[in-house]
Amino acid sequence: MEVIQKELIIVGGGPAGYAAAIRAARHGMDVALVEADKLGGACLNRGCIPTKALLESSRLFARVRSGAFGVKGDVQFFLDEVVGRKDQLVDKLNKGIGMLIQSNKVSYYNATAAFTGEKTLKLSTGETLQGQKILLALGAAPVVPRSIEGIELAKTSDDVLAHRFGDYGKVVVIGGGVIGVELATFFSEIGSQVTILEGLPRILSPFSPDVTKYIGLALRRGGVKVTAGANVKKLVQQEQGIGVVYTEKEKENTVSADLVIVCVGRAPRKIEGLELCGAEFDRGILTNADGQTKKTDIYAVGDCVRGSIQLAHYATARAVSVVDKLAGKPSHTDLTCVPSCVYTNPPVARVGLSEEEAQSAGREVETGKFNLGGNGKSLIAGEERGYVKVIFEKGTEQLLGVELVAAEAPEMIGGFTTLVAMKAKRGDILRSIYPHPSVSEGFFEAVEDSLKQAIHVIYK
Ligand code: NAD
Repeated sequence: MEVIQKELIIVGGGPAGYAAAIRAARHGMDVALVEADKLGGACLNRGCIPTKALLESSRLFARVRSGAFGVKGDVQFFLDEVVGRKDQLVDKLNKGIGMLIQSNKVSYYNATAAFTGEKTLKLSTGETLQGQKILLALGAAPVVPRSIEGIELAKTSDDVLAHRFGDYGKVVVIGGGVIGVELATFFSEIGSQVTILEGLPRILSPFSPDVTKYIGLALRRGGVKVTAGANVKKLVQQEQGIGVVYTEKEKENTVSADLVIVCVGRAPRKIEGLELCGAEFDRGILTNADGQTKKTDIYAVGDCVRGSIQLAHYATARAVSVVDKLAGKPSHTDLTCVPSCVYTNPPVARVGLSEEEAQSAGREVETGKFNLGGNGKSLIAGEERGYVKVIFEKGTEQLLGVELVAAEAPEMIGGFTTLVAMKAKRGDILRSIYPHPSVSEGFFEAVEDSLKQAIHVIYK
């Protein structure tokens, strides 16, 4: 049996794996990419892109239905067509990645790989590959907590995005993390009665208490019932729908639903025969800061790595920087400066340190905040219930972090990430002129506010 030799084999064609393959090929490496499913991974097929496509439609529907923009009429929401549009654009992007892989001369195998030796992989399509180096980018899959009796009655985000559900008049979302609040936003915008049951004392707990407060209020205004500190006990089949039994402050309650969605995190994936390559797996593949496992030539990146930040753009950046190092090229990416966004209404975005994180890291800070109720463009967009907050280090005046709940927050955070990564000083920012009318003016005013100089703020 012929063994195909490669300089680098990448397993997993998600945002980490396919980006790594393209970069490696551009560095002149002889690279193979193996993907069991479709290129693009969870991000393109079951995550970022499909969710945002659905949210684009639900948002448009909710805006027209609100009558707040002088646009009225008896609009209807055709879920099948909305899902069809989502599928079309996923397909388009998927084909685009295929073309990039092909044009960069990456050897692509649409197959499941399993280790049969330290650096040998057997593919479900019959080939055997041997790599000088192997990079695992296996991704993660939704966690289904078996401790909850009857949990098989619930759907995961994968099911929802593939439209594997029936009635959705009453929706219960278990888990108030990023996926939970985004799906709650979608279903509430299309008219479902939504309840979020979050185990911790607050939703979106990795974000600041301000973010929790603003998004909690936005969800409630949209009719979502948010219950934090809820301990879900079991799901029971009822004559009509599903009963979700949970305790809150030791009191047992039951909420009925047509659709129960479980979004309590995503668990790193494994690969068959992993032990043969010598990498360790304990709630994820263990790697050092360079993405290297216990074995010299075996690397892992993205959501399959234990403790990794489970964000597509982080996975891509990390994968590319690992490949740069393998090729002996410098990598300039600051992997500590990672923006994160939540596509609620209004959306959330943050980068760098929050005020609370900076303080617990012992940094003395000066903050500025601008409430977007005084920002023209936010009022125009109907998303004035947000804010921009900036965190500077006292003394050095270095921008440590930015946090915003605002229309187009995910569009703006990229530029702010550059400022944080380049360690911009307050004076650098104040040299600029921001366009009017724009939501980004709110950022400028927040910077001015850190000096109590924002024009549109009344100081006593
Ligand atoms: P998550 O970790 O963000 O949130 C899960 C939530 O479920 C937490 O708040 C947790 O306290 C809660 N929880 C856990 N067990 C529970 C239980 N038994 N009952 C009630 N609540 C429970 O996980 P996720 O929302 O599933 O998202 C997975 C990953 O994907 C995250 O890392 C997230 O950042 C990423 N993601 C990012 C985006 C984005 O960038 N916009 C979108 C979707 C997902």
